[in-house]
Amino acid sequence: MDSIKPDFDIGIIGGGPGGASLAAYLAKAGVSCVVFEREIFPRPHVGESLVPSSTRVFNDLGFIEQMEEAKFPHKLGAVWTAKEQGRPYRYAYKDGLNPDSFADVRFEERPQEGVQMPYTYHVDRGKFDLMLLQHANKLGASVYEGVKVSGVDFSPEQPAVHFSMGRKEMSVNVRMVADASGRNTMLGNQLKLKQMDPVFNQYAIHTWFAGFNRHALATSDEQGDYIYIHFLPTSNSWIWQIPITDDITSIGVVTQKKNFTGSKEDREKFFWDAVDTRPKLAEALRAAQRVKNFKEEGDYSYSMKQICGDRFMLVGDAGRFVDPIFSTGVSIALNSSRFAQRDILGALERNDFSRASFNEFETTIGRGTKNWYDFINVYYRLNVLFTYFITDSRYRLDVLKLLQGDVYDDAAPPVLDKMKQMVSDVERDPRHPWHKLLVDLTANEFVPVG
Ligand SMILES: Cc1cc2nc3c(=O)[nH]c(=O)nc-3n(C[C@H](O)[C@H](O)[C@H](O)COP(=O)(O)OP(=O)(O)OC[C@H]3O[C@@H](n4cnc5c(N)ncnc54)[C@H](O)[C@@H]3O)c2cc1C
Repeated sequence: MDSIKPDFDIGIIGGGPGGASLAAYLAKAGVSCVVFEREIFPRPHVGESLVPSSTRVFNDLGFIEQMEEAKFPHKLGAVWTAKEQGRPYRYAYKDGLNPDSFADVRFEERPQEGVQMPYTYHVDRGKFDLMLLQHANKLGASVYEGVKVSGVDFSPEQPAVHFSMGRKEMSVNVRMVADASGRNTMLGNQLKLKQMDPVFNQYAIHTWFAGFNRHALATSDEQGDYIYIHFLPTSNSWIWQIPITDDITSIGVVTQKKNFTGSKEDREKFFWDAVDTRPKLAEALRAAQRVKNFKEEGDYSYSMKQICGDRFMLVGDAGRFVDPIFSTGVSIALNSSRFAQRDILGALERNDFSRASFNEFETTIGRGTKNWYDFINVYYRLNVLFTYFITDSRYRLDVLKLLQGDVYDDAAPPVLDKMKQMVSDVERDPRHPWHKLLVDLTANEFVPVG
């Protein structure tokens, strides 16, 4: 036992999905924990489309009923579109289907253990994050909003979490700290663990529209509530289309940061120029009303040298951020709490908060984020490969498994190895019909497998 009784067992920095779900898990297990959140909720946040593996966490936390009552749009699947006018993106490949300018999946095509519904949700993050934080509070977690943590002192036996309240500097002692401060990466910065991604340097500009016709590029009625990824002709650039309510749709343009250099006005012009490369989409968007200011996000891909250590863990975006192309961030934050709480409960039982106690968490999250990273890497390197795999019945369900967020159980999912192998083949063969489609955004050349 510690020689002094701490103020709380666990201190959690940040009340987004990572921090709130961890607090809810711990409070449910009877652990004393406190969340420090610098904002007063609700506050807006990017990251509005979930993947189905989030449902396991909602089930564990008894949160499904609230998700249903909130009437968040049900996300039944996803659609990818490419140029819809003129010559479609069509590339014949020797033994496969012709990837077309359109691909779609329904989540119910692949049953998922522990996920009882054929859909997940799109959420207004202001509302969703508030609900989850309040849920943690109801389960017994202490929640302080409007309280910004300035640092953690690890020198005493029990870490001291420092924060200010008004002009008053204060601190509480805890047995361990979980940093869930998102891309602010509070502890990662303090402990100098953060490494910016050497390759992915993406930039996003996004807003909400009312009255946008979400069926503008759909092929069925149901697809109005799918997430859409609209490829743009510029390399590594795409647009998201995410339903927020019956009437509101979130639209964001993602591209390489080097494509943006101008002033704020230039950037808004960039948004519209990007949209204009997809005429049907542009027509539908221009007929709608923008109901929010544009918001920008940049420099967002990084990893940490380690995601846990003696008396600390990094959860969700505070531990790593991988490009959002597959809508994975909230699911990773929720599931990292799911894995983190198991190790934390074990550490509390043994009163051992050394890094070794969090080994399972570190290994599992390392595996999951590596799989996401590899998947995103092949995707950006050769877009057409993704549509090829998703439209080929031999690989479809294995790709869908990744898209559903089931990335934690295989160290190396066979379908990813196959994708990497094909990228290597295309890279080595200048006469391959896809060779000219390779783009340079990739962390390293893929090592051929097998
Ligand atoms: C362009 C873009 C698009 C995205 N699209 C998607 C998507 O479609 N789907 C998806 O799942 N994810 C998406 N994401 C990712 C998603 O936004 C994050 O992965 C998710 O919000 C992570 O949750 P979190 O709890 O780890 O961090 P956050 O949600 O960022 O929460 C962190 C909280 O910590 C608080 N905080 C920060 N510093 C301090 C401090 N010092 N003291 C106290 N509190 C602090 C913040 O105020 C914040 O509330 C996208 C991200 C980007 C950049």
